[in-house]
Amino acid sequence: MPELPEVETFKRYLDSTSLHRRITRLEVRDAYILKRVSARELKHRLKGRRFENSHRHGKHLFVRADDELWLRLHFGMTGSLEYLKHDEVAPKAARVIFHFADNCRLAFDDQRKFGEIELIENVDAFLQTRRLGPDALEISLSRFKAIVGKHRGAVKAILLNQQLIAGIGNLYADEILFRARMHPATLATRLSDKDLRRLFRATRYVLDKAITLKTDFNRLPKSWLLPHRGNGGRCPRCGRALKSAIIGGRRAWFCTHCQKRI
Ligand SMILES: [Zn+2]
Repeated sequence: MPELPEVETFKRYLDSTSLHRRITRLEVRDAYILKRVSARELKHRLKGRRFENSHRHGKHLFVRADDELWLRLHFGMTGSLEYLKHDEVAPKAARVIFHFADNCRLAFDDQRKFGEIELIENVDAFLQTRRLGPDALEISLSRFKAIVGKHRGAVKAILLNQQLIAGIGNLYADEILFRARMHPATLATRLSDKDLRRLFRATRYVLDKAITLKTDFNRLPKSWLLPHRGNGGRCPRCGRALKSAIIGGRRAWFCTHCQKRI
């Protein structure tokens, strides 16, 4: 499921392939992922325009087509972008394809169709309506400490709550807590100033590093939890069997030896 690092990688991909090209045609192969906009309206409003820049907040990607016209992309479970040159064939799960004047295309691909495409007028208004928290890579240390330290509940559930901090999903939350050596069920209110600082640094490091590696799981450091996460997995730090439990409604993987409850 695309989390902040994946969506940031899509943003950079879109920026490097698809900006400033005139959209000549839109192909909506499956309108299911369109939210609050019909295929007809989407085509009508974007045809002839160009994607001028983009902005990411949490797991949402906003692509500006005009002062008051933004395309919002959310990648759901399996969404991704694919840029196609000339006669390259679109992937089978391409749901919407933007055709550009130079015969190239950008496909929004989504096997399981939990993704979303919408037109909005104002990014800030959208973020307010959804009550999304600050972006996990943009948030300052003081704000992070104020948000995490003052909420009741397991620290993992707080990291996953998009209305507190936007962008972290199940996999990277586990990695962040592994790096911070914190048990995912630790109550956030028990974290000291030093613990919160450690958690903040781990969040930054894990998200930044995943982006640098273009979220290629095969290239993640072997010292990370993610390559070992799952049944039969062993802790890359101490070699003990990893444990799992449902915390905050999602399955957490962790090492009870290296990650203590505080
Ligand atoms: Zn361990």
